[in-house]
Amino acid sequence: MKNIAKEVYQIPLFPRNAINCYIIEDVLIDAGIRTSANKIIKTIKGKNITKHALTHAHADHQGSSKIICETLNIPLLCSEPEKAFAENGNVITEYPNPNHFISKFQENFWAGKGHPVSQTLKERDQIGGFTVIETPGHSSGHISFFRENDGVLIVGDVMTNMNLLTTKVGLHEPPHLFTADKETNRKSILKLASLKPKILCFGHGPVLFNNGELEKFVHYLFNHQMLAFKTVANPTQAKYGISK
Ligand SMILES: [Zn+2]
Repeated sequence: MKNIAKEVYQIPLFPRNAINCYIIEDVLIDAGIRTSANKIIKTIKGKNITKHALTHAHADHQGSSKIICETLNIPLLCSEPEKAFAENGNVITEYPNPNHFISKFQENFWAGKGHPVSQTLKERDQIGGFTVIETPGHSSGHISFFRENDGVLIVGDVMTNMNLLTTKVGLHEPPHLFTADKETNRKSILKLASLKPKILCFGHGPVLFNNGELEKFVHYLFNHQMLAFKTVANPTQAKYGISK
């Protein structure tokens, strides 16, 4: 367990930070795969954890949610669109190709059983000092968590900070194979970049103490991928809407 910022801890579950979960204040964010439970429970022993929240209900994030909620007797939280998947454990439903062998592998060997969701989270809800940011695309109900006063951002899988095949560190879009809507996810990348986060905590890859890497990555997406961001969120809709 690594202390990242005040009351923020990273729990790397695989070598090279390949899969992470986090503690933010008294909340466990994400829970690895099915076999991660013992490691997480041992690591957080002695910490006052009162809730468990998911960035999204994919197999490498909800894998140990049920056993952790039951063992610690704490409620499970996620967004409304993820609720059904968190509860029924059907974690690959939104994948572009649920029949791909990797999707099947995740379903058979990584996914945890579903668990009842006690509370749903939406844009601007507060979790301690963190604000919920809706970041759909990788999954329809993906959420991130941002603490404005020190710029800590729990990214989830809106971006990864490693190449998932080679494990080389660097910012990437999440793999298309596991991403429901990559165009919508690109808008979520912009939305997160507009927050000007200082410390980025990823589902996959090491924590990034941003020194311009995020801005370079966004610039690359805009200029080299020839993206047409025609529709952006209405900036008046929410404080954290994407501005033009
Ligand atoms: Zn993931």
